[in-house]
Amino acid sequence: MSKSDDDALREKIGALMATGLTTQTEPFPETDREFGHLLAELRELPSDDLQGKLVLSGFVDKPYGPDQMRCQECMYYLVHRKWCDLPELAVPVEPDWWCRLWRI
Ligand code: SF4
Repeated sequence: MSKSDDDALREKIGALMATGLTTQTEPFPETDREFGHLLAELRELPSDDLQGKLVLSGFVDKPYGPDQMRCQECMYYLVHRKWCDLPELAVPVEPDWWCRLWRI
């Protein structure tokens, strides 16, 4: 995807959240097993089901929880591309967003 495609998709995702898309932010996967289970569920979605991915992964368009976790500090975040590099998601993101696949 080109940079402008990434930007357009990032804006689309941002608009979905800004217009009130409710996502599953809980439970946060505390163990590797729970994390793996959530990844497996994501893999079962059709690859073009963007909204399904956002809902299942618990996307929010702001830092989350008492620790204010966000993509910026997540191990999957690619700073220069503003991209989530977790293969099961693989979407453009903003540094201040978050999802429950967050890891450091
Ligand atoms: S896994 Fe979630 S928190 Fe981490 S970069 Fe991707 S969307 Fe952001």
